[in-house]
Amino acid sequence: MSEIICPHCKNPIYDEDVLLCHFCGKSLARTSGGVFGKMRGPGMNWVWIILALMIFVVLLLSI
Ligand SMILES: [Zn+2]
Repeated sequence: MSEIICPHCKNPIYDEDVLLCHFCGKSLARTSGGVFGKMRGPGMNWVWIILALMIFVVLLLSI
């Protein structure tokens, strides 16, 4: 269990799936934007696996 530090109010949040800060209500999206910021949790690993498979299939089709 990891904690997220709100970039706006610096309060710790202990929910990896939360989209908005509990304290100031602002988005917790950091450097890479909201969607990609959510894909850092362990539960989102399958998304990257599917993306890698899709890229692999596209490469195969483009040969
Ligand atoms: Zn905050």
